[in-house]
Amino acid sequence: MPKLKAATLQSICETISSYFPDAKLDLVKKAYSFAEESHRGQLRSSGEPYMIHPIEVAQTLADLRLDIASIATGLLHDTVEDTHATLEQLDKEFGKDVSDLVDGVTKLSQMTFKTSEEKQAENFRKMILAMAKDIRVILVKLADRLNNMRTLEHLAPHKQKIIAQETLDIYAPIANRLGMGSIKAELEDLCLRYLHPDVYYKLAQKVSKTKGDRLKYTDEVCDIIDEKLKEYDIAASVAGRAKHFYSIFNKMERRKVDFDQVYDIIAFRILVDNITECYKSLGVIHATYKPVPGRFKDYIAMPKANGYQSLHTTVIGPHGERVEIQIRTQEMNQTAEGGIAAHWKYKEGRFDSRSRENVEWVNRLLEWHKDLSDPNEFLETVKIDLFAEDVFVFTPRGEVKQLPHGSTPLDFAYSVHTDVGNKCVGAKINGKIVPLKYRLKSGDTIEIVTSPSQSPSKDWLKVVRSSRAKAKIRAFIKTQERERSREFGKSILDKILKTYSVSLSKVEKSNELLKAAQELSVRTPDELFVAVGYGRILPENVLPFLVSKEVLEKHKVAPQEQNKLGKAEDESFLKKVFTNNRRRSESRNAIIVDNLDDVLIRFGRCCNPLPGDSIVGFITRGRGVTVHTTTCTKALDNDQERKIDVQWNATMQANAKSHVKIRVLSSDEPGQLAMMSQAITSCGVNISSAHIRTTKDKKAIALFDMEVSDISQLQKVTSSLEGKKGIISVERVRS
Ligand code: MN
Repeated sequence: MPKLKAATLQSICETISSYFPDAKLDLVKKAYSFAEESHRGQLRSSGEPYMIHPIEVAQTLADLRLDIASIATGLLHDTVEDTHATLEQLDKEFGKDVSDLVDGVTKLSQMTFKTSEEKQAENFRKMILAMAKDIRVILVKLADRLNNMRTLEHLAPHKQKIIAQETLDIYAPIANRLGMGSIKAELEDLCLRYLHPDVYYKLAQKVSKTKGDRLKYTDEVCDIIDEKLKEYDIAASVAGRAKHFYSIFNKMERRKVDFDQVYDIIAFRILVDNITECYKSLGVIHATYKPVPGRFKDYIAMPKANGYQSLHTTVIGPHGERVEIQIRTQEMNQTAEGGIAAHWKYKEGRFDSRSRENVEWVNRLLEWHKDLSDPNEFLETVKIDLFAEDVFVFTPRGEVKQLPHGSTPLDFAYSVHTDVGNKCVGAKINGKIVPLKYRLKSGDTIEIVTSPSQSPSKDWLKVVRSSRAKAKIRAFIKTQERERSREFGKSILDKILKTYSVSLSKVEKSNELLKAAQELSVRTPDELFVAVGYGRILPENVLPFLVSKEVLEKHKVAPQEQNKLGKAEDESFLKKVFTNNRRRSESRNAIIVDNLDDVLIRFGRCCNPLPGDSIVGFITRGRGVTVHTTTCTKALDNDQERKIDVQWNATMQANAKSHVKIRVLSSDEPGQLAMMSQAITSCGVNISSAHIRTTKDKKAIALFDMEVSDISQLQKVTSSLEGKKGIISVERVRS
C-alpha cells in the first residue's frame, strides 16, 4: 500500500542499515547528491520537485532489501534520460555496475508497448527479461513503475489508460513472475482504478460499506482458529483481510457474479514458525471445519515457479460459508510479499551467486524457460540472461517476434511469411543494410528487402537457425529438385524413344504413358518422369509399354542398325545413360540401404569405397544415396542430418567387381612393370590399365587401375607387391 510518510535520504539509509548493518552508505549519499543536482529545477506533473520520484523509487528498492548498487540506481535512474548527465559520467562517478544498471533501466523505459494482444504481451515480457540481462534492472524498473502508477492521477486520462494497460499486461505479470506479491497486487489495483474506474469505485464503496460487518466476521473466525490452535500448542498469528480489488474483480468476472457476501472477499492467513506447524495447523483447521473437496493445495511441497510457498485450503465456516485459508511460515510470507529479493543472500553487500538459496531461486525462475540446458552456467554473476536461447526483434510495425539465438534476417523473413523468406535478398536493421548472415540482437527492428527473381539455395540452410526457416528452404529445394528430375527424366525418355522413332508427345496424348506409369506403380506420367530422373525407374523398363515388341526385337538383333538410327550426339548420350544405369544397378545391388528399397546408389569419387571398407551413406536429393568411406573428409563435411546407414551386400560381393587405383613407387629397374603386373594378376585381379613413369632420381611411379571384389583382395595385392624386390611403397589412390 502507498506509503503515508514521504521517503527521504535518511529513511532510505535507515532501511538499508536494518537488513545490512555494515553497509557503506557513501555510494547512496553520493548518488542522492548527483541526482538532486541533475534534476534541480525539474518538476513532476503534480507540480512537486522531480527528485521526489527517484527518492521514492530508491525507498521501494530498500524495502525490497536490494543491494547498494540497485538503490543508487534507483536514485539515478532518470538522470541519463531526463537530464544532461551521461553514462560516461555515471561510470566515472559510480562505477560500471551502477552505470550498466542505469543504462539498462533507460533502455527499458524507451521501449513502448504498442499492441495489447495477449501473445504480444507474453513476448514483451520475455523480451524485457531478455534485454535486461541483469535482474536488478527489472527490479528498479518495477519500483519506477510502481511509483509512476501511484502518482498517475496527475496525468491526462488517455495517458493514464495507456500506462495502466501496459502495467497490467507487462509489469504486473513480471512482478508476479518474480514472486513479488505485494507489488503485483498494488499494481493490479491501481490498473483497475484507471482502466475500469466504475468497477473499482463500486468495489471500493462496497468494501468500505461492509467494513463493520467484515471486521466483526473476521474477528469471530480469527478467535475460533486462534483458540483451536492454542489447544494444540501451536504459536500462530491469525489474520483475515480483504483480498485486493483486482482479485475480487477477477473472481467476479470468472464466475459472472457480483459480490454480495462479505466473506467472499476475505482471505485468512495463519503464520507459524516452521513447516511442521504448517501441517499441524492444517490438521487442526480440517478437524474444526469441513474442508471443501478439491480445494487443498500444497505449495510447500510443490512451490510455484516464482518461489511461492504456502498451504491453501477452503473450508465450510461457522455460517455455512466458504472460508479461504492460507497457512505458511513467516519466512514464506516474506518471500510471498517481497519475492526474489527475500531470497537474496548478500556477501559484502553484493548478491552472492553461490549461496544455495540463490541457486535454487534462479533455478526456479529458469523453469519458465523449460529447455534451458544448464542453468548453472548462468550463476557466474548476477547477470542472468533468462532467455539466452532466444532473441526478440521487432517488425517495422512494432510487432515482436521471438527467434532462436543466432537467428539471421532470413529466419526473421521466414517467420513473417514463406514468400518473404523465399524472395529475401537483404535486410535493414534499425535502418542500416546488413548482410544476410547478420546475427539478430534483441531489440533490433528489421525490414526485409525482397526481389521477385530471388529463390532459396542450399547455402541458406547454413545461414538460418530456426526450424521453420530450415523446413521452408528444404521444401523449396525439394520441389525444385523434383522439377529438375522431372525435366531430366522427360528428356531421357524423349531421346530414347526417338531412337525407336516414337514421339513422346504422341504417347503422352494417347494415354499410353499413363498406362505405363500405372503399370510401373507410379500414378501419373509426371511421376514417371520424376522416377526416371531420380533413377528409380530405368528407361529400358519403360520402353516395352511404349514401343511395339517387333521394333524392340529388331533393335536387339541388329544393334548396329540401332546405332545408325540415332544421331552421333544421341548415340553418345544413350551410351552414357545406359552405362550409367548399368553401373547404377550394379552398385544398387552391392549396397543395402536401411529401410529403402530400390534406391539409386553412387560412390563418392573422393574416396571410392571398396566392398569391405567401412562406409556411410548420404541422401542426395534427386541423386539417390552417395556412399563414402567413414573416414572420407567429404563425408564428415556433409550435412549429418542426411546421413543414412548403408551396408555392403554380402551376397553380391562374389560377383561384383569394383574399380580401384593403386600407386606403386619402386626403384627404376628393367622388368619392373612386368614383375608388378604378375604380382597383381597372381592374386586373381584384373588390371584395366597401367601407367608408369620414371622420376629424375631413378624411381618409377606406376599407376594401376584394377578390378577387385573387395577390400581383402586389395590388401592381398598390396602385401604381395610390398614383398617384391625394389618396391618402396604401395598406396591406394582415392581420387
Ligand atoms: Mn522514473
